[in-house]
Amino acid sequence: DGAKRRSSAVPYPKNNHQKSTRSGRARGRVKRRCAVESMGTQPAQPARIRKYIQVTISNFSDLGLADPIQRALTAKNYITPTPIQARAIPELLKGKDVLGIAQTGTGKTAAFALPILQRLSRGQGNRKPRSPRALILAPTRELAIQIGDEFRAYGKHLHLRLSVIFGGVSQVPQVKALGRGVDIVVATPGRLLDLMNQRQISLGAVEHLVLDEADRMLDMGFVRDVRKIIAAMPRARWMW
Ligand code: AMP
Repeated sequence: DGAKRRSSAVPYPKNNHQKSTRSGRARGRVKRRCAVESMGTQPAQPARIRKYIQVTISNFSDLGLADPIQRALTAKNYITPTPIQARAIPELLKGKDVLGIAQTGTGKTAAFALPILQRLSRGQGNRKPRSPRALILAPTRELAIQIGDEFRAYGKHLHLRLSVIFGGVSQVPQVKALGRGVDIVVATPGRLLDLMNQRQISLGAVEHLVLDEADRMLDMGFVRDVRKIIAAMPRARWMW
């Protein structure tokens, strides 16, 4: 909802002394997840949480990104991380799960793309045919293409391979690209499920999962497809 969207980024504090009515199990889930919301002005949070979110990172070099990624950012003239990036990237680099809420134009794509590239860069060269290590789901082909372009730009000095998969076009080039080996797949849910059913792609090695514009995906009726896709993963990593 609107009010929620406008609230500031709030990673859950480590020692959250707030009384909770959640069950033990639900509480555990929330603790593991870092909720990152962006970007508004009204601080509706209690003082202790407000203190927690004042952690600011004013420069990309403070994030400890690998040199090849940092060089790509410098070439694009990115100096300062946006608020969603400053809050999400350190958590994602630690391997935490993040729920991010940010409007278009706030730099959310880089907020998940940069940590994924950094984490995958450690296993460069291990790619297998038809078996990506990162999967990004997006509701539309336009968004999937856009996300793919951003990954390529930030990862241009890395040796990672990316495929963008979407419906409404021949699947032949997509299947060929998957067969050549792939590290990152950006996909719309329908075509991805088709290719899974044809055994052209396996999600058994996926370590990082992003649901970009998850609310829109649900609005567009992709909930069953998304559930089936997640069920095909050994250990789904929620990032977005
Ligand atoms: P997004 O919200 O992911 O659609 O990003 C909006 C636009 O901002 C994209 O064109 C990005 O290339 C650009 N962008 C993302 N992060 C930064 C940054 N830290 N500094 C400058 N531009 C950025």
